[in-house]
Amino acid sequence: CGVLGVWSQEALDVAGLLHLGLLALQHRGQEAAGMAVSDGKELVVEKDLGLVNQVFDEVRLARLRLPQARLGIAHTRYSTTGSNLRFNAQPLTVRSNKGVLAIAHNGNFVNAKPLRDRLLEEGAVFQTTTDTEVMVNLIAKKAHLPLVEATAEAMRELQGGFSVVLMDRRTLLALRDRHGVRPLVIGRLASGYVFASEPPALALLGAAFVRDVRPGELVWVEEGELRSLQVLPPEPTPCAFEWIYFARPDSSLDGVEAYAARVRMGEELFREAPAKADLVVPVPDSGIGAAVGYARASGLPLEFGLYKNPYAGRTFIQPTQEMRELKTRMKLSPTSAVAGRRVVLVDDSIVRGTTSRHIVRMLKEAGAREVHMRISSPPIRFPCYYGIDTAARKELIAAEKNLEEIRAYIGADSLAFLSEEGVRRAIGGPVCLACFNGRYPAGRPEEGEKLALE
Ligand code: 5GP
Ligand code: SF4
Ligand code: MG
Repeated sequence: CGVLGVWSQEALDVAGLLHLGLLALQHRGQEAAGMAVSDGKELVVEKDLGLVNQVFDEVRLARLRLPQARLGIAHTRYSTTGSNLRFNAQPLTVRSNKGVLAIAHNGNFVNAKPLRDRLLEEGAVFQTTTDTEVMVNLIAKKAHLPLVEATAEAMRELQGGFSVVLMDRRTLLALRDRHGVRPLVIGRLASGYVFASEPPALALLGAAFVRDVRPGELVWVEEGELRSLQVLPPEPTPCAFEWIYFARPDSSLDGVEAYAARVRMGEELFREAPAKADLVVPVPDSGIGAAVGYARASGLPLEFGLYKNPYAGRTFIQPTQEMRELKTRMKLSPTSAVAGRRVVLVDDSIVRGTTSRHIVRMLKEAGAREVHMRISSPPIRFPCYYGIDTAARKELIAAEKNLEEIRAYIGADSLAFLSEEGVRRAIGGPVCLACFNGRYPAGRPEEGEKLALE
């Protein structure tokens, strides 16, 4: 998911700014979008299923355009296990003993289920199946504490990987779990502050980058001042998959540029798994950075052997294998660059293996002599409990098959994955690699303890 928050000293077109920011974060979630805006008195929410521009037409934006608007938060939702339900869209708003609260988050609380059970026992009621509501209830339970302190208390109880933006009618808060699994950055506006999942959202709003929110830190804007509380000691293990695939290539997270990290992964990949070939071809768009690095390190030419139709979109999700194949053919097709050549095909990851299988076949049909598949991450063998789609991961090819079996399935002449060490070197610090090695730095839910739909 993508999260965003804006706070301004003066009245501002908060909805317009949030709309722009959401467009810059669209890649982090295409299931649903929403925003909440306040002028200090009213708090208005609009949210629905769909892409940002489908949800926010002029009618919806007009409803959010309070003339004296000063703050707001926004969210793009990434699909998780079938919870494609309208009432699960964010921001979530509640009336509590702290007034109206709106909250949006990216990631998951791994202890949401036991916390929710405890809250239910204590008499809380839940309207959604998201773990967002667990956090709101934890905050509301601290009836004797002001919002900032109550939020800090909730942070101490929650485990997992999450970045959260939260507001009442006056205050905007943002926080990151103590492992900093999901990104979150701070930007400065002429009249206030912005919090966003990734820096490109700041740039689009005209905000200057200030810094990343630190793992375990709670930040908030009050009377125009940015304040901070280090609630928990930081133990940084940010998600490696942000740099491998998820974040925008023009993002810089915790001081490490995504594009440069991808190029380094490609260079590492060549060192670990060179191939005798004539050219390097990226699987667009996600394989481009690593292909650049592989080409640079190998000295082989980088060629665009695959064309990606920018209009194919992702709306064509179809239930049958036949339709999925049609979708792949619509999306990617070979160019003349590959005929008669030995190709190193570079992609960022293999999930189900279906894309790779089709692309290899397409390249061979287009006359490629050999196809050597190189993947700039290790085999994905475990589920992510920190906010990357686990539904798809149920069908993980690498959970079932070994390297040679995967190679045979996708029909490549050779196949290699980047090692965990290679990923770590390319990013240059401690990272979460749990979906590759099963070691969960921010904990994992007990068996059967994941919230049913989150
Ligand atoms: P596969 O065909 O192996 O299932 O998918 C591999 C492709 O999916 C890669 O090109 C990779 O960039 C992309 N991919 C990896 N993780 C995700 C994800 O979480 N969501 C989506 N939509 N694509 C992903
Ligand atoms: Fe990222 Fe994988 Fe860790 Fe999930 S398990 S946070 S996708 S590295
Ligand atoms: Mg891809």
